Amino acid sequence: MGVLALQGDFAAHAQSLQQAGAEAVEVRTRESLASVDALVMPGGESTTMLKLMSYENLWEPLQEFGASKPIFGTCAGAILLAKHVTSPSQISLALMDLDVERNAYGRQLDSHIAQVDLEGAPLEAVFIRAPIIRRVGPAGKVWATHRGDPVLVTEGKHMVATFHPELTCDPRVHAIFLRQL
Ligand code: GLN
Repeated sequence: MGVLALQGDFAAHAQSLQQAGAEAVEVRTRESLASVDALVMPGGESTTMLKLMSYENLWEPLQEFGASKPIFGTCAGAILLAKHVTSPSQISLALMDLDVERNAYGRQLDSHIAQVDLEGAPLEAVFIRAPIIRRVGPAGKVWATHRGDPVLVTEGKHMVATFHPELTCDPRVHAIFLRQL
């Protein structure tokens, strides 16, 4: 399992994957991307990640990768996977039929911790300048919501979380991704 390690909290994801029983490889180049079967794109700053992706010539390889292999995007990673991005708008890999609005919780709720329900059990969800998913395409499956908005969604082999499951010690979200492989 690869973790895109250009920017953001990739180290915490690698730890969570190990806790969930997977091996984690840091991906920074086309070569390391070619060596993994699935990829996590971490939280951080999506605009910066976009710049680094094009600087490292990873844009096309990532699009090709996502056409056949699973990607799990958290927060900024979710923004990069969504088809339409607003507030402000920016390009994306557009691998999932989702509309997302960046930094959508406003100043007061900029960063917050909430309890959401995951498969009938409570899950602590850490939101940091998180986007809100405004639309899920017909093929999407919503696993968890917060204040009525989807926060954990799968579509085919891909998954997004608008919160940071790598910052809590609960391996269930990573486990769902691993289960789909
Ligand atoms: N606000 C960031 C963005 O728009 C995402 C924040 C995060 O990944 N925690 O890219």
